Amino acid sequence: MSKYWDAIIIGGGAAGLFCAGIAGQLGKKVLVLDHADVLCEKIRISGGGRCNFTNLHSSPANFLSLNPNFVKSALARYPAKEFIKLVQSYRIDYHEKHQGQLFCDESAHQIIQMLLSECKKGGVIVKHPVTVQEIKQETGGWSVSTSAGIEKSKSVVMATGGLPVPAIGATAYALDIAKQFELMVVDPRPALVPLSFTADAFANLNELAGLSLPIRISSGSKGARYGACRFNEDVLLTHKGLSGPAVLQASSYWIEGEAVHIDWLGAVEVGSHFNCDELFNNEDNRLKLTETILASVLPQRLARSFAQQKNLLGRKWAEVSKKDRQALKELITNWSVKPAGTLGWKKAEVMLGGVDTKELDGQSMMSKKHPGLFFIGECVDVTGHLGGHNFQWAWASGHACAQAL
Ligand SMILES: Cc1cc2nc3c(=O)[nH]c(=O)nc-3n(C[C@H](O)[C@H](O)[C@H](O)COP(=O)(O)OP(=O)(O)OC[C@H]3O[C@@H](n4cnc5c(N)ncnc54)[C@H](O)[C@@H]3O)c2cc1C
Repeated sequence: MSKYWDAIIIGGGAAGLFCAGIAGQLGKKVLVLDHADVLCEKIRISGGGRCNFTNLHSSPANFLSLNPNFVKSALARYPAKEFIKLVQSYRIDYHEKHQGQLFCDESAHQIIQMLLSECKKGGVIVKHPVTVQEIKQETGGWSVSTSAGIEKSKSVVMATGGLPVPAIGATAYALDIAKQFELMVVDPRPALVPLSFTADAFANLNELAGLSLPIRISSGSKGARYGACRFNEDVLLTHKGLSGPAVLQASSYWIEGEAVHIDWLGAVEVGSHFNCDELFNNEDNRLKLTETILASVLPQRLARSFAQQKNLLGRKWAEVSKKDRQALKELITNWSVKPAGTLGWKKAEVMLGGVDTKELDGQSMMSKKHPGLFFIGECVDVTGHLGGHNFQWAWASGHACAQAL
């Protein structure tokens, strides 16, 4: 005989378990249902196995959503420092890697264990693998039919995540439920995903495979759904094109058919107050070779390649016309390439789009049309930048929901 739960949470991943632990510790009777044999697979593989669990600088500016203001309340009430305190209370050692990104020293497994311990403290029951067959709204509550019987509750929380990596159990179930209850869904699209390139787009850079350097990348456009972006990040040149964090960040804003733009000197400028015009107009450089001047701020192989592309290899700077200097500068600071596509859901880290935030109350994550139905984590149209922001959203939205349950 099943009991009447305060909340049934569908999906025992980052947002679902975190929400369950808090609600349980607040005295709620909570059941978590997950279809996977092994829970939290995404946490396990995250951050190369070390889980980039939050970011010191996580703020609303790090999220894409049709309504960028939606994240504000949840993030303000559960900022990164709160999650860090929890991690510290479990004596999990961590380190900052890059731009505020926090990783476990040891293993992502420690974060999973912490979430499960928090659930245990709250008396949460976690059942898996269980298939959820139907969710129905009834007078005063909800009925959830599963492969293990029918469960009844006051609230249902959808925490089934996004579509990336179907091989480890990702489904569109939260979006299907949103549609079943006539809630709007913003079209899902892979994000933080490698971009693919055609071979001819890289004819000039082919021999540079393996080179990694900091650059400034931009993509998207102001009028586009999620606007435009500019990131200073590392790019990796590969035999198939470009990859690395710069490309992943740009992919979230990329508009199909459009180019992404790279300023190969952009990150140098930021780092050392370097001024590109000074380099190009400095008369002390008159007797130096073009590739030598470029190599003072770029890796040598790249410097040679740029000089070669403009037929300036081996030419002294004094011999290079103003027009050619300008063309070289344009090539280096506004280099464009049109991606052919993305590598899709198999390789994406996160989903763009999801349940439209217009349908949800930003304080509680509850559906405005169906009180008692909540959506948290990646299934909501909130997508973080690379660097721990997606987990921060899972924690913050899970916390907001738990307070409201
Ligand atoms: C390779 C990779 C690396 C990543 N690294 C990072 C990182 O370092 N830092 C970061 O911030 N983010 C990272 N992310 C993103 C992050 O993992 C997700 O944003 C986050 O896990 C989302 O939390 P969630 O609870 O919404 O969904 P999930 O954690 O995906 O949990 C969803 C749960 O729902 C279950 N489920 C799905 N469908 C059903 C169904 N029909 N019935 C029942 N249960 C279901 C799943 O089994 C799963 O347990 C990474 C993602 C990937 C793919």
